Amino acid sequence: MNARNIIFYKLINLKNWMKKEIQIKKEFKKKQFQLVRGMKDILPEEQKYWLHIEDLVRRLADKYSFQRIGMPIVENTELFKRSVGTATDIVEKEMYSFFDKGNENISLRPEFTAGIARAYIEHGMLNLPQPVKLYALGPCFRYDKPQAGRYRQFNQINFEIIGEADAICDAQVILVAYQLYQQINLQVVIQINSIGCPDCRPEYENVLKDYLKKYRSKLSEVSGKRLSKNPLRILDSKEKDDQEIVKDAPQQVDYLCEGCREHFIQVLEYLDELEIPYALNSKVVRGLDYYTRTTFEIWPVEGEDGRMVELGGGGRYDGLAELIGGRPTPAVGFASGVERLVSLIKERKAPVKEPESLDIFLAQLGIEARKRAITLFEELYEADIKVTEGLARRGLKAQLELANKLGVKYTLILGQKELIDGTIMIRDMEGGIQEVVDAKKVILEVKKRLEKARVNVNELNKVSAIGPT
Ligand code: AMP
Repeated sequence: MNARNIIFYKLINLKNWMKKEIQIKKEFKKKQFQLVRGMKDILPEEQKYWLHIEDLVRRLADKYSFQRIGMPIVENTELFKRSVGTATDIVEKEMYSFFDKGNENISLRPEFTAGIARAYIEHGMLNLPQPVKLYALGPCFRYDKPQAGRYRQFNQINFEIIGEADAICDAQVILVAYQLYQQINLQVVIQINSIGCPDCRPEYENVLKDYLKKYRSKLSEVSGKRLSKNPLRILDSKEKDDQEIVKDAPQQVDYLCEGCREHFIQVLEYLDELEIPYALNSKVVRGLDYYTRTTFEIWPVEGEDGRMVELGGGGRYDGLAELIGGRPTPAVGFASGVERLVSLIKERKAPVKEPESLDIFLAQLGIEARKRAITLFEELYEADIKVTEGLARRGLKAQLELANKLGVKYTLILGQKELIDGTIMIRDMEGGIQEVVDAKKVILEVKKRLEKARVNVNELNKVSAIGPT
């Protein structure tokens, strides 16, 4: 091929490549992006539920002296492998793990506890007065099968008491969980169990294995595989056939060592003292390797639809710190999913704190009025008046419609004429009456009217409380 032909073919290739690029760009321009599967947008109208829950969490944390800890979203993959355990669904199938640009194997956190324990060790919290009480809030990630109440990014509330083995800590963690649901008007029952410790669990695991082996052929495929490595997990299998088999399985509580039995009795006695409803449930094993002794789940009292979705769960994890390179450190905690809480609040129409209502809408007409309105808004806000504005809107009609929709008591109208006269118009949104006031006294005038409206509402409430005479 001569040089002329080579250049010719190169040009044709270049032209084809450019055509393709333009085509791809065109297609992307048209493409309407959608949520990644398993993710969820939390829209503004849903925020009141989230704020309500966050507020409750903060107040409970204050009441019981838990301090907030902010955790990174990524941790070393090995941390979860060692703590959560390699024979768990989370580590086997659900972690978002990848090598970063420095070739480090990291994972989006599938839960908080391992990271919090890591932070406790790394920051020498061992030297603080014990126990250390921490709480955290935020997203977790599991590559789970998305379905109702199950997302790939979901939010958890976590409370942990680290550095104390006493059963009173188990009871306090359960109390915090219980109060969280109580304050959202959700009736819950604590399903509680003890899965023993490394001293007494092996004996129970052997007894359980012997029992399950008799039904090996009837177990589900997953449970069959778990029989040798993680037989406890078969107890909380969601498969109907497995559930039939484990109904009559031996129970760990009958095989607890002296220390574990005493601990469990103490936890239950504290719960009795606190009048927290609980049910002994030998199937609550929690499925993560790091649990010891107390395990519990929080179930709503059956709803109208008869569903039993677990809202949260937790337990004691005395061996975790050691598993991840720390000194032996007893600890107990619980985690609750926020999405499930929000959907139950909505479903059961439990009351939530509504966003604060607005009192004043600031409307403007014309470029000069708009300039003044920007600063007037700041002045009203600084004077503690609950104000909003229609600065981006042009016509008065559109602004009044918005003010109506927002349910404000008064609209301040600032037009060209008012600007020249040094006045401002106050429109009573209920009666439609408009008054012109001196612009310099507008804050005073607004406050006077709001105060009067408040007094009127109080009087009305008093009359309706007394009832007709
Ligand atoms: P776990 O760490 O599995 O015990 O989960 C604690 C709580 O987090 C559960 O009780 C749920 O409320 C919530 N949770 C766990 N996984 C998911 C998920 N995939 N989607 C929504 N919430 C979840």
